[in-house]
Amino acid sequence: MRFDIITVLPGLLESPFAHSILLRAQKKGIAEIFVHNLRDYASNKQKSVDDYPYGGGSGMVMSIEPFAKCIEALKSAREYDEIVFMSPDGVTLNQTIANELSGRKHIMILCGHYKGIDQRIRDLFVTREISIGDYVLSGGELPAAVMVDAITRLIPGVLNDETSALSDSFQGELLDAPVYTRPADWNGYKVPDVLLSGHEAKINDWRHEQALIRTKDRRPDLLED
Ligand code: SAH
Repeated sequence: MRFDIITVLPGLLESPFAHSILLRAQKKGIAEIFVHNLRDYASNKQKSVDDYPYGGGSGMVMSIEPFAKCIEALKSAREYDEIVFMSPDGVTLNQTIANELSGRKHIMILCGHYKGIDQRIRDLFVTREISIGDYVLSGGELPAAVMVDAITRLIPGVLNDETSALSDSFQGELLDAPVYTRPADWNGYKVPDVLLSGHEAKINDWRHEQALIRTKDRRPDLLED
């Protein structure tokens, strides 16, 4: 699977993909992540990629020309299954969307800044608009990193057995059960006996019960359907 991320701040996207599971996915050749500097596609001398908003008002707007050039250049090299614009007014990212996108081959991601991007970019090129929650960030880079992480860990072969995504919260209708590791007794605070029993069926029952209790308590909405 290949991601192409278009941004004015490529530096912001260096670290998130250079560690742990995302790094491993790239080393295994399962995921490729390319970051493109939008300024490389600016044709004016100042390499500016934004301009004043028509109609006035505060904040700069990202111009169509550099985005169009970058998107067209990428599209001429391969077909994209999705061109995603990270945007607070998009559909809120959830596990269902992450699962769906993990089955795609090529995803392009556009990061906005300032007041946003010229609406014509959204109308002409974007196939999906995704938000990571009801709050406004300064740019689309962190949202893009969040989405790429959520998608990549679901691609078969990325996680090994111990970190399998199948028991994670939101993968089914239940949140994940509590987890413990050594020591079994920390200053009198003990790990539930059943987890030390070695009895697999009992452990599974306990985990299911705990997941149910946690879901009823914290996210009863997940049990509604
Ligand atoms: N004026 C816009 C916000 C612009 S914030 C509005 O009110 O909708 C600048 C950029 O940050 C956006 O274009 C988007 O790419 C990114 N961004 C900010 N918050 C985001 C969120 N919750 N989810 C996804 N992207 C977000």
